[in-house]
Amino acid sequence: MPNALTWLLLAALALASSTRLWLGARQIRHVRAHRDAVPASFSGSIALSAHQKAADYTSAKTRLGMVDVLINAATLLVFTLGGLLQWLVEAWSRAFAAGSIAHGTALLLSIVLIQSLIALPLAAYRTFGIEARFGFNRMTVRLFIADLVKHTLVGLALGVPLLIAVLWLMGKMGAYWWLYVWLVWVGYSAVLVMLYPALIMPLFNKFTPITEGELAARVARLLERCGFKSNGLFLMDGSKRSSHGNAFFTGFGAAKRIVLFDTLVSRLQPPEVEAVLAHELGHYRLHHIAKQMVLSAVISLAVLWLLGQLIERDWFYSGLGVRTPSPAAALALFMMVLPEFLFFLQPLTSRYSRRREYEADAYAVSHASSEELVRALVKLYQDNAATLTPDPLHSAFYDSHPPAAMRIARLAELRSS
Ligand SMILES: [Zn+2]
Repeated sequence: MPNALTWLLLAALALASSTRLWLGARQIRHVRAHRDAVPASFSGSIALSAHQKAADYTSAKTRLGMVDVLINAATLLVFTLGGLLQWLVEAWSRAFAAGSIAHGTALLLSIVLIQSLIALPLAAYRTFGIEARFGFNRMTVRLFIADLVKHTLVGLALGVPLLIAVLWLMGKMGAYWWLYVWLVWVGYSAVLVMLYPALIMPLFNKFTPITEGELAARVARLLERCGFKSNGLFLMDGSKRSSHGNAFFTGFGAAKRIVLFDTLVSRLQPPEVEAVLAHELGHYRLHHIAKQMVLSAVISLAVLWLLGQLIERDWFYSGLGVRTPSPAAALALFMMVLPEFLFFLQPLTSRYSRRREYEADAYAVSHASSEELVRALVKLYQDNAATLTPDPLHSAFYDSHPPAAMRIARLAELRSS
């Protein structure tokens, strides 16, 4: 039965999707318009051919993103108003008692399976089409399939017990089930963050400790200057999948590890790696990671509370194409529909993230060389074919990092002040 919620969903979906497409089109237009000249502040460091490659790569990725927007919108409509979710509810109730935990688990797993199958061709095209065309892909079809199988198994091993626990709590805990689910969710996430580096990451990559040489010595001195204790510096074989480089921290407390992609280490000089690492240390030192975790815990509490309010209302189900209410159906509907409403918060979260990048840069400059950080960033922009000329509105909406020119200008300011 279409009701006010139906029209609200259609309006949100239309507005969010058309905004996404419009921003994508703006980005492509802007990048193309600036394709033939390297911005003045980079003319000494980035060649025109690299700039043009970045423009073409950005356009190709953005175009694929626009296709993804259309597929997502169609999938959402088919699942909800198109009746696929209701059909799955009925199909599984022939095997399991309707509304039982087994029924709910089967329903949600089949939804995830269908969504993954729909996303697969695009993921394969991203890797073997676009990434390969621009020379970034190092992944073989064999590795792609092996990853897919491993990701699926890890996802099932980690997800199914949580799902069963959540469905059980939803059925047993009465009106305040959402509070119990939240507590389980927060505890589960914390455990996962701690176990992930030691248990899951080694399934996908090799980690080799770096203990000797200039880089190890520089990093040790940097950590001492910053008063940072870690459980070692590791090199990760990121090059077996992609030539994109990165550096990150994993784990918490004394189990913190610093991980550098081999692609990063092979491209940057040790002083440049040190500066990049100083930036990452800044995120830690300024509690960005802890703040992020607290923020997502607060948001998930709000989201679960909202679901707690909706789950009892018949209009919530009927307005979204489901005739037989159940906790699992509510969960499925909610997770599909919510992103369309939250989309308009994206500029806020992106802005918040960019502010933290500036803060981490300021921290890096006070503990390492800003010239080296700028040099490293320019190399990374070039190697990753990141555009130097994003559309300002697209960037304001989506970018978690400040645009290159603004970031480097800010670093120059910090140096002179
Ligand atoms: Zn950062």
